[in-house]
Amino acid sequence: MTFLINLLMYEPKFRLKGGGRMAIIEVWIDEDACTGCGLCEDTCPDVFEVDDVARVKEDADFNEFEEEIKEAAEECPGEAIQYEEE
Ligand code: SF4
Repeated sequence: MTFLINLLMYEPKFRLKGGGRMAIIEVWIDEDACTGCGLCEDTCPDVFEVDDVARVKEDADFNEFEEEIKEAAEECPGEAIQYEEE
């Protein structure tokens, strides 16, 4: 048991990235739920763009805009913004 605790405390490869923070690895839009209101683009224009419905930009850096993505998902009136963390 002591060995396991020491391993988890001192061996960096067993630690989560960002000091225990989860990293967003994928973001997508449920287009059936999206109303096209544009709120996500206002919140995070580097990740979302809205025409008739919202889209996730192909070259979006999810790590750089993690907080904004989560804020957009929380505020989305259609609950259309989904993301996966690891
Ligand atoms: S905030 Fe939600 S409903 Fe509005 S455009 Fe973005 S994904 Fe669609």
